[in-house]
Amino acid sequence: MIVAKFGGSSLANAAQFQKVRDIILADDRRTIIVPSAPGKRFDEDEKVTDLLYRCYHEQISGQCFQSTFDKIRQRYLDIAFELKLSLNIEASLDEINEKMAFGASADYCASRGEFLNGLLLANYLKFEFLDAAEVIFFDEKGTFDAEKTNFELQKKMETHKNVVVPGFYGSTPDGNICVFSRGGSDVTGAIAARAAQAEIYENWTDVSGFLMADPRIVCNPKPIKHITYHEMHELCCAGATVLHEDSVFPVSRAGIPTNIRNTNLPEHPGTMITCNAVQREDYAIFAGIAGKKGFSLLVVEKEQASRDKTFVKGVLQAAQNCDLSFQYLPSGINCVCLMVDAQRFDSVQDKFKEEIEKWNISYSLTTQHGIAGIVLAGYGIVHNRETVNRIFQVLQRQSIGVVMINQGSGELSTWVGVVEDEMADAIRVIYEEFV
Ligand code: ASP
Repeated sequence: MIVAKFGGSSLANAAQFQKVRDIILADDRRTIIVPSAPGKRFDEDEKVTDLLYRCYHEQISGQCFQSTFDKIRQRYLDIAFELKLSLNIEASLDEINEKMAFGASADYCASRGEFLNGLLLANYLKFEFLDAAEVIFFDEKGTFDAEKTNFELQKKMETHKNVVVPGFYGSTPDGNICVFSRGGSDVTGAIAARAAQAEIYENWTDVSGFLMADPRIVCNPKPIKHITYHEMHELCCAGATVLHEDSVFPVSRAGIPTNIRNTNLPEHPGTMITCNAVQREDYAIFAGIAGKKGFSLLVVEKEQASRDKTFVKGVLQAAQNCDLSFQYLPSGINCVCLMVDAQRFDSVQDKFKEEIEKWNISYSLTTQHGIAGIVLAGYGIVHNRETVNRIFQVLQRQSIGVVMINQGSGELSTWVGVVEDEMADAIRVIYEEFV
């Protein structure tokens, strides 16, 4: 069976609902459906979730939230009317309106976008509605309880076929509603796929999968047909915005592939994300390229060369004590180089120096700010001996300086550091060289 999650733009109005129904009915393996709240219908439109948060803020600051709520009400009424649904969505809207007036929590307010859309979609599909509050659990502190959820959801799935489970929210032990961070319907879909041991987790959105590079930088980048979860994570670390981070773990640990598909172009195969690499039959030796600005390069050097073994450990411990995580770490016996988030380093740099001094190390610290990290992600790069050569050559031809390059510490990526202003050009020429 397949778990299919539909994002906000896929369910923004009645016409989109029709496309979603056609997709679901085209394959009877699509038996668990996870909807988001209605998204934007056009550029200047507002997402229902944003409107719901606005209602909450208006209410707690003593303003009247009714006109904002009426916009939300109208969106659902329009969908129900145009689809000629038998459901009385008005009753649910009234109940929510009343609860908000009595000061419902932010999470409760935000979650109603998915709740109401789930009711509409279930009615339209003639599927059963399964309230996420009954199957997705958080603890008292609002941390997602993966094992309890998996256990309860698995039990439910055994007896319920063809269900709609709204995305984005669940409940705490005392019955309060709790939401994931924004974009969290992706997470609900992944959790449902794990519990149901789905053969595929389909994530339907408004693009035909991921592209090999940011289209604002590279003209017409090729689509990614296939990528592994690990490769995708590397691209995320370098700033590519792909899936909600927490939507990877539930499915990747269960060996379930995620297929990103386009609701507006359902015949397109989209991007398939799997646990294991497959032979890339197409274009390039890497899956994708991404870049992120805002790094600093720290070079910590021992004043006197010695065989003292605590140096590297001391520097790393100092970084850890300052909660300064690094993206890249080449080191020798007398010198450690760290690529870190510039803002984070700025806020902890005095503490970082004090922490190193605790190890009685006399050292010098040089910093270079304004660095961008570019990653070429893909198994196979490290086995291709020409790669680094070609990167150097192509950047040199464009007079782009390489601040650092790291290949080979993992099987799946090559990091290139350049100054921020040259990042876009560097990505463009590397892409053109290899793809
Ligand atoms: N509706 C929520 C949001 O806008 C969750 C989601 O769409 O995944 O963030």
